[in-house]
Amino acid sequence: MSSVVRKPQINAYPFEGEHVISLMVRHHQYSGIRRWDNATNPISSDYKTVVPHYVLRPLYRDVYDAFSPSIDYETFLGRHTLYQYYAPFLPATLLKQSGDKPLFVNNINRVKYAAHWRHCSECVKEDMDTIGETYYHIEHQLAGMSYCVKHQTPLFIACDRCHDSGRYLNSIGLPHGSNCPKCDMGYDNLDGYMDDDIDWVLRTSARLLKHEFPNLNLQRLQRAYRDYIGLDTFTNVSSRKDTLIIAEAQRALDNYFAPELYERLLILDGYQGNRKFRELFVSYLAYKDKFTLPICHLLMIRMLFGEIENIPNLMS
Ligand SMILES: [Zn+2]
Ligand SMILES: [Zn+2]
Repeated sequence: MSSVVRKPQINAYPFEGEHVISLMVRHHQYSGIRRWDNATNPISSDYKTVVPHYVLRPLYRDVYDAFSPSIDYETFLGRHTLYQYYAPFLPATLLKQSGDKPLFVNNINRVKYAAHWRHCSECVKEDMDTIGETYYHIEHQLAGMSYCVKHQTPLFIACDRCHDSGRYLNSIGLPHGSNCPKCDMGYDNLDGYMDDDIDWVLRTSARLLKHEFPNLNLQRLQRAYRDYIGLDTFTNVSSRKDTLIIAEAQRALDNYFAPELYERLLILDGYQGNRKFRELFVSYLAYKDKFTLPICHLLMIRMLFGEIENIPNLMS
């Protein structure tokens, strides 16, 4: 007798721009199974650490396989994860990696709220009106994102009295307007300091997510940085003269924007001497073939070129 391997069924279909993990939370709710682990384990063994910011992880592949949709895997990632936001800053070696190993950006926790699930109460209303359900939109989960690009209203994070970390979506549940469904306290909204540069970073992040700059890649970007800085290579054995060139570029990047901008986007580092934000390293951004926070690249791009469209040799 032949045995038929039954594919696990997912009880929900992803909405437009819905994060894969939001889909799994709905799957859990519809399953009638009490525990998250038991509801998700048949689909994927990668059900822990239910945070928004992984670039790649086995869970994404498992959910894709469970659907076997007519779109290819990369398209699926682009629609239901933050993959397209990260992709332009991935070194070629990581881009070629088949993508089933967990991959996340080091130090992502140093971007404010990057590890928290965020939602827009206007989108919640609209989604209830149009589809009768709410879900987490990928655009709201971009690192540093604090308002809804569509509604121009501040995003919310879950009540930290009822959800002690505010990070694990399986304990938070689906987005719920502007008040906590458990204690009715108003959610924290992420309104705060805003200027043209922050607005540009956030809008440009949303454009990256929509894959608007297919020619942008780390190699071209670093080429443009180096040409601008006027120094082709830099290592820890570089000359004193070269070190001074980098130090000058670093000083420029550390002071180019309003002080409130750095504090709004990045978490202050208490132990790095006189440099407040250690992620913002010019030597790293321009000379290392490694993956680092997109938001730091965006600040560098803003300072040097103003707009992504102005990066030399990018659009040709
Ligand atoms: Zn909205
Ligand atoms: Zn609460």
